[in-house]
Amino acid sequence: MSVRFCQSCVLPDSRPGIEIGADGVCNACKGHSDNRSSIDWAGRGQALERLFRGAKARKAAYDCIVPVSGGKDSFWQVAKCLEMDMKVLAVTWRSPGRNALGQANLDRLVALGVDHIDFSIDPSVEARFMKKTLIETGSSAVPMHLAIFAIPMRIAVQMRVPLIVWGESPFMEYGGQKGDSDLDLLNHAWLKRHGILQGREALDWAGDELTTAELAAYCPPAEEEFRQAQVRSIFMGYYLQWDPAESLRVAEANGFRRRPEGPKIGLYDYADIDCDFISVHHWFKWPKFGFTRLFDNLALEIRNGRMSRDEALAIIGRLGDQRPDADIARACDFMGLSAAEFAALEEKFRDHDVWTARDGRWIIDGFPVESRDWPAVPMERAA
Ligand SMILES: [Zn+2]
Repeated sequence: MSVRFCQSCVLPDSRPGIEIGADGVCNACKGHSDNRSSIDWAGRGQALERLFRGAKARKAAYDCIVPVSGGKDSFWQVAKCLEMDMKVLAVTWRSPGRNALGQANLDRLVALGVDHIDFSIDPSVEARFMKKTLIETGSSAVPMHLAIFAIPMRIAVQMRVPLIVWGESPFMEYGGQKGDSDLDLLNHAWLKRHGILQGREALDWAGDELTTAELAAYCPPAEEEFRQAQVRSIFMGYYLQWDPAESLRVAEANGFRRRPEGPKIGLYDYADIDCDFISVHHWFKWPKFGFTRLFDNLALEIRNGRMSRDEALAIIGRLGDQRPDADIARACDFMGLSAAEFAALEEKFRDHDVWTARDGRWIIDGFPVESRDWPAVPMERAA
């Protein structure tokens, strides 16, 4: 079975969620052109105002929680909530990979005028958890995905905050599933539906390396507890049209700084910049699925009419696979993995339906660009 790449954007059908039709065009490209124009944004904006009024009427200490990372979208979410006169509690899961730029941006975000909880989990627990999920699933980001959802949900329940305002739904670009009546809600059903948690809850990871008690911070409140607390958990991107250029403008006007050295991975100097471990998470998409963060960024540029597919392919040819060597070294140091152990994991998760060994190199048949940096086939396999 070989991989097909969308003829409109650059994504392969090996990417989870991507299907390519007989016309060679993927569902994400089709969804993009079908959906956006038919949305009643004025009506949704009014619905958001009603929700905010309802939250304020509860007269809690805070009107809403805004989960923030310190990225540009966090600035936009917080600025919008403050503009609409909400009393905001910002909540962050502190990534153990946060870097100086990430800290500085977060500090400037808090200075917009919000109270803030910077929630740190015991670094030894984070390190063991990251290592375990990387070895078992090829994803070092399972702890992150658990923590970023569980922590704000739990704080909302315990502090009786009526509303959680998330950013853009990461699945909005695919248009959602027809018939979903709760596309705006991030709740237990959403977490399950989108497989964010790889089908496993936090406590399913308990065992020899991690105790149940050590995993407490990764556990969201029970569904029943969440419902009884009457917390509403919404995506702002469902209610307000999300324009990345506009959110970047608002963020920069409020003190957000781009990465002076340029993009860390992908195409943008303003995304995936605040944590040194996120690039390692994205990196595994290359052996697993045959695409990188750059492909995701370019697909958005193409769909939004800012770039042609030929220009995108030229950029892939120029930037190559962008293996984040320095971040991989940092993450390995944090998890207690050697470089050789990491390389062995890259091979463990290399999908042989995607990759073919030829002339001592792993290549992808049908890859749309002449690549100069195909990875070498490891010695023992080549032999
Ligand atoms: Zn496409």
